[in-house]
Amino acid sequence: MQKLARRWKRAGKSIGFVPTMGYLHAGHLSLVQRARRAVGKSGIVVVSIYVNPTQFGPKEDFSKYPHDLKRDLKLCRAAGVDVVFTPGDKEMYSGMGVPPVRFKFAGGTPAPLTQFSTYIVEEKLSQTMEGASRPTHFRGVTTVVAKLFNLVLPDVAVFGAKDWQQAAIIKRMVADLNFPVRIIVAPTLRERDGLAMSSRNKYLVGNLRRQATALWCAIQMARATVKKSNAFPAAKLKTAVKKLAECEPDAKLDYVEFFEPDTLRPVSKVTRGTHVALAVFVGRTRLIDNTKL
Ligand code: AMP
Repeated sequence: MQKLARRWKRAGKSIGFVPTMGYLHAGHLSLVQRARRAVGKSGIVVVSIYVNPTQFGPKEDFSKYPHDLKRDLKLCRAAGVDVVFTPGDKEMYSGMGVPPVRFKFAGGTPAPLTQFSTYIVEEKLSQTMEGASRPTHFRGVTTVVAKLFNLVLPDVAVFGAKDWQQAAIIKRMVADLNFPVRIIVAPTLRERDGLAMSSRNKYLVGNLRRQATALWCAIQMARATVKKSNAFPAAKLKTAVKKLAECEPDAKLDYVEFFEPDTLRPVSKVTRGTHVALAVFVGRTRLIDNTKL
């Protein structure tokens, strides 16, 4: 991948990059379109598909994360992607086991002991919300994104606003560590009923799919509240969001936070322009969403 990228660079081509974990949907493809717009017709658009083990906690859905590479490749081709990069765990983490049981080697050869021991850790923005609920998540994200940047050598990388905190942390990492890449954050694509598109929506079977609209309903309620009364107490609004989300029998709020969009600093009074983010378990599926109010 790096050899290819260096060749493109020597030929003066711009590289636009969209990192994903696959099982692509229209939200991912909107990032591809944004990348194409950024690099132009003569540029190269690269999509990576890699379910990164180091960003999953031990009790999370790593081993059952949805995948359909054949379908993803078709979608990428139709969307005008030039290269789909699909590394394996062995290449990404020097044949290490994270944990070892996740690595399958041909012929039942035991996984070699890991050599991998370097991580990138953002220490401020990653403390709240997703970082508080999923303690090693962002360490995995920053590390794999840094590795992917070093492999793909992008001029521009596009991330979704759907993962607002992630995008803020990547922007911080790029500024702090002088990665020569421009970060673009593209808007969240939603289903008709407001549910943010996500690969994990596949888990929402039966009436869980309907219950999943609880996130968007809660966001709408927060928006309506702020519209009526500017500077509404965050604590009171949090209680109302929890109550509304948990009206659904299988929905359980993990967190809701009101914060300044750039610094992610929590606010005590919610005003127009304040950002809201929440995570809700719907059945066993953990969904996240956020928006500017
Ligand atoms: P994932 O495959 O879930 O890791 O997501 C890969 C990229 O797509 C991330 O930058 C996400 O923020 C972005 N993304 C995921 N869902 C959406 C969506 N509904 N709209 C826009 N971007 C999205």
